[in-house]
Amino acid sequence: MIKNTKVLALKYRPQTFDDLIGQEVVVETILNSIKADKIPNAYLFTGIRGVGKTTIARIIAKSLNCVNGIENKCKDKCINCDSITNSNHIDVLEIDAASKTSVDDVRELLELSRYAPTSAKYKIFIIDEVHMLSKQAFNALLKTLEEPPEYLKFIFATTEIKKIPITVVSRCQRFDLSRIKSSELFEFIKNIKNKENGNATDEALKLIVKISEGSVRDALSLLDRALVSLDHNKELDLNAAQKIFGYFDKSQLINLFDLILRGDEEDVVSVYRKIYDQGVEPKVFLNDFLELIYYFKNINSLTSEGTNFLLNDEDFSKIKEISKKIDNETLILFWQFGIRSLEELEIVSNQHLAIEMFLIRLIHLSSFKPKNKNELEGGRVHISDEKNKNLEKNFDTNLDVINQIKNVSQKKKKNPEPKNEIKLFDKVPINSFNDLINICSIKKEMKLKYELEKNVNLVSFETQRIEISFNEDLDKDFVKDLSTKLFEWTNQRWIISFSKTKGAISIKEKEKNFNFDNIKKVKDSDLFKTILSKIPDAELNDVKTKKDNDD
Ligand SMILES: [Zn+2]
Repeated sequence: MIKNTKVLALKYRPQTFDDLIGQEVVVETILNSIKADKIPNAYLFTGIRGVGKTTIARIIAKSLNCVNGIENKCKDKCINCDSITNSNHIDVLEIDAASKTSVDDVRELLELSRYAPTSAKYKIFIIDEVHMLSKQAFNALLKTLEEPPEYLKFIFATTEIKKIPITVVSRCQRFDLSRIKSSELFEFIKNIKNKENGNATDEALKLIVKISEGSVRDALSLLDRALVSLDHNKELDLNAAQKIFGYFDKSQLINLFDLILRGDEEDVVSVYRKIYDQGVEPKVFLNDFLELIYYFKNINSLTSEGTNFLLNDEDFSKIKEISKKIDNETLILFWQFGIRSLEELEIVSNQHLAIEMFLIRLIHLSSFKPKNKNELEGGRVHISDEKNKNLEKNFDTNLDVINQIKNVSQKKKKNPEPKNEIKLFDKVPINSFNDLINICSIKKEMKLKYELEKNVNLVSFETQRIEISFNEDLDKDFVKDLSTKLFEWTNQRWIISFSKTKGAISIKEKEKNFNFDNIKKVKDSDLFKTILSKIPDAELNDVKTKKDNDD
């Protein structure tokens, strides 16, 4: 199929400005400035991997040094263009800053810059991954960068512009290369597939475009991999491509999401099993599902471009359509359950079944609307949707999730038209020490939660004022961190004071005592004595109480 052994990304590397795709504005600006003889001392290109930073750098080097003129239309390759293409032009040096980061490396380079070019008009230094240079190395560069000899030009490329000192950036002409548009990238690789006599469906190519997230190089190496791994005369279709890349199409997930909202349990399970049969790992599935929840939540503030090509136009409008049917509270709940299920995956032996249960839980959750406070505080969720009335069951949910529904719905009543849903989620009232611990887990402040549970003894708690005592393990930044977070979460200043009073025993301590008491109780029970008489080796390590009995 592929006759040439050269990898596609190298074989089809653009050699002239005309070959480049997706960077028209940048190219035009560069060409105009060269034509007007306003060539900057240094160019700086930033952008994600594989959008053409070093490719453009080389094309500029050719434009500046081409024997046939500046527009780099060098059809009959001149000697300069030819050797720049092959990276062996004596006056064009390519340096990878990842391996030459030190100040000595830069000094060596500057030493070379003192000699005028030998065979071309300009001496050009192309420095790739320039952000890797050390601080001293950048400093050494500065002076030359500001007043270089007439013949010297720098071209920098980086994926991480923020790591470059502002003093350097300000001395360069900066170009931000954008990701390549899906449609453009698709046409591009389809064209190459045809040139290579490859056999692949449009759907398979679209998947490649999606995975490569706007990077030409990624798209080409994926195409390479796909075509090489197929037998002769076999067509690369969507299914085969999904298998090769371990990727599954988001539209299947969107479909699944819709079925969940419709409450169609049987279909949900069967669609999931199909996805599973494609070899999708439960963890990958769940992560993608979480990502999708994010899109449902935020679709109105996103553009198709903004989703980094992970969603095609069709997916995008479908999500937008379905999102009208679902409110934010439910999405936030879905998210919470998703995160929790992700943790649960680690402890179950059959992850596949855990995912099925997760999806079934979502079906029931999506039809749940809190009716009154008592219902919530009972620790149970009733399914109240018409369609599911016959399914009415008690549903075990975790308390912090329930608290969250409560808080979110209370807040909503006060504020019927929230401008910003994220704010709505953010303002959670903290009325007790337990609320505080709950919000730490919701906000994923695990360090704070740990300190609160383990090393803090509560003396008194009122809004904006917490009095505690603590043990010697308490982190020294604890008070500072907690105050900052409390202000962030409640928009109020909280006073946290230390007390000499011993305070309540810590939560961890309490749990330990509780378990200890329970174990003792059970050990004294007749049931356990009976067990011991049958199995003399039996040991009792832990006692679990059912949640329902807690009330
Ligand atoms: Zn040339």
